Amino acid sequence: MTVRCPWCDFDGGLRPLHAHLADRHPDQVRFEQRAGGTRQVYAVACPVCDAGYEQTIKPGHDAGFVDEYRREIRLVAFDMLLNHLVGEHQPPAGPTAS
Ligand SMILES: [Zn+2]
Ligand SMILES: [Zn+2]
Repeated sequence: MTVRCPWCDFDGGLRPLHAHLADRHPDQVRFEQRAGGTRQVYAVACPVCDAGYEQTIKPGHDAGFVDEYRREIRLVAFDMLLNHLVGEHQPPAGPTAS
């Protein structure tokens, strides 16, 4: 199965696309402060239908934690987005798919 990157012309399997997203589109995962900076969330939005996913980064970690794990958090966020793209926007595979 190949999936098209929603932000450019790249398409490929899920694993290559996942790596591509993290490599080329890291800014699509937003990190935001809430509650006066005591709470961090990360958010990613589907560019096709505007569905948004937002998760709280576990409380109790300082800013250093977020910096250190930002890349891994992105991978998790892109995982959610890929699941969404495949589930919601992937055309049936092949012309003879039933
Ligand atoms: Zn791309
Ligand atoms: Zn969508």
